[in-house]
Amino acid sequence: VTEADRTGDSEALAALHRVFGYDSFRGEQEAVIDHVVAGGDAVVLMPTGGGKSLCYQIPSLVRPGTGVVVSPLIALMQDQVDALRALGVRAGFINSTQDFDERRVMEAQYAAGELDLLYLAPERLRLDATLDLLSRGKISVFAIDEAHCVSQWGHDFRPDYLSLSLLGERWPDVPRIALTATATRATHQEITQRLGMPDARHFVASFDRPNIQYRIVPKADPKKQLLSFLREEHAGDAGIVYCLSRKSVEATAEFLSRNGIEAVPYHAGLDAATRAAHQSRFLREEGLVVVATIAFGMGIDKPDVRFVAHLDLPKSVEGYYQETGRAGRDGLPSTAWMAYGLNDVIQQRKMIQLGEGDEAFRRRAAAHLDSMLALCETVQCRRGQLLAYFGQDPEAGACGNCDTCLTPPETWDGTVAAQKVLSAIVRLQRERGQKFGALQIVDILLGRRTAKVIQFDHDQLSVFGIGEELTEGEWRGVIRQLLAQGLLAVEGEYGTLVLTEASGSVLRREREVPLRKEPKKPASTRSGSGS
Ligand code: ADP
Ligand code: ZN
Repeated sequence: VTEADRTGDSEALAALHRVFGYDSFRGEQEAVIDHVVAGGDAVVLMPTGGGKSLCYQIPSLVRPGTGVVVSPLIALMQDQVDALRALGVRAGFINSTQDFDERRVMEAQYAAGELDLLYLAPERLRLDATLDLLSRGKISVFAIDEAHCVSQWGHDFRPDYLSLSLLGERWPDVPRIALTATATRATHQEITQRLGMPDARHFVASFDRPNIQYRIVPKADPKKQLLSFLREEHAGDAGIVYCLSRKSVEATAEFLSRNGIEAVPYHAGLDAATRAAHQSRFLREEGLVVVATIAFGMGIDKPDVRFVAHLDLPKSVEGYYQETGRAGRDGLPSTAWMAYGLNDVIQQRKMIQLGEGDEAFRRRAAAHLDSMLALCETVQCRRGQLLAYFGQDPEAGACGNCDTCLTPPETWDGTVAAQKVLSAIVRLQRERGQKFGALQIVDILLGRRTAKVIQFDHDQLSVFGIGEELTEGEWRGVIRQLLAQGLLAVEGEYGTLVLTEASGSVLRREREVPLRKEPKKPASTRSGSGS
């Protein structure tokens, strides 16, 4: 350790105490900061809430010049800058939300060396005007936040990030630090390559959140299941409930309120004032539940969120990890709870198929969904599967703090059941030229003479009533798992079921289909067949 290192070290620690009021660094922070302060490039992979901001804020304060932070989260810049200013840090931002005059003021302050930190939206960096501006000041460090946006395979790809490699070419002496919370090992390599940082040191924090208990339950009557979960395990606790649509956000918040749980909705359809009010209540009050779309949570920093509940399936494991990661930042026991059912699979597959985007985009979305489904259907430790997804080796053995560890699911040989489902679909299509959704298939297998069965003469099919050994819920479970395993597919806006290439091997008895046993009674309340 040289003298310079030692000075840098203590300056960093002094800044931590003096500016931020914290006692000590966390995890990898100190190593990252030392490295960057000394002029080295760094790629930092740290989970959300891990404390990435200090990794570039402190070097910006300690090194001479202005730290330039590239962030795609334009909506958060104002808040970030306000928070820093409140600590006495000279921070500013330049983005499209500003008018000409505001921008001019920032630019002048930067050029005059009056800023410790300058936040920039990535699209500005392509502009010659921005690069010229940056040349007029002294840059202490470049921070590239949300660096996974450079990956074309990720769910957050931003073409503007591809031009960030020019920073290293134009300012070779300025250290760069790329940070992300959501990266698989492959994405990590891509960051290094596309940002042109071959000599960067990599800092990889553990993604394990041992205090979070992961649980995924079969969806029966989701709102009621949620209510029992909250009453039995999290009475009076603050938490977040994620729903897919604004409508279900509203309905769920109302349902919880009606049942004595203080809950407020949050989604992009609410006006800004209401959103801000609900968010600040959540931060301020002790036991408030926010029911929200994924619009809620980015940049929210509340240590004592005791649970995150999902009533709908997230689109990717990254999303799931990020959202559940908002629980238990204080290190105390917390729960990540999700209700998941057949309709989730059908809905998401449909959304991908009917949604926007080209073929490559759809393939990517489907791959993301498949990983998420695999996590839902696994009979192994969920934490182990989650960590493996992020390219991290789980500690040996099962974690003991997820549902599959606590109550290992049983499997059964679902080959015959799978054949029955697939044959029913084949019969309908071959003999009648018809396609139907899961509801009708289950009614046919159970031999139910519903109005729709009569209408289409489906009681005349040879497969009518061949599935009376299983209940409706069990058949839905079979179909869900076949969809998850790619042995069935969903088509069109009505979500009709069709075979896949892999289905043939099941029908020809060339393979077995092990299935997860559906609990007879879902953990909490059961009623109806909501999923
Ligand atoms: P990330 O960007 O990785 O999601 P943040 O940088 O927002 O995480 O940090 C998460 C929270 O942890 C913030 O409230 C931050 O102030 C706090 N924090 C970060 N580092 C420390 C530390 N060394 N000591 C105490 N609190 C810290
Ligand atoms: Zn486990």
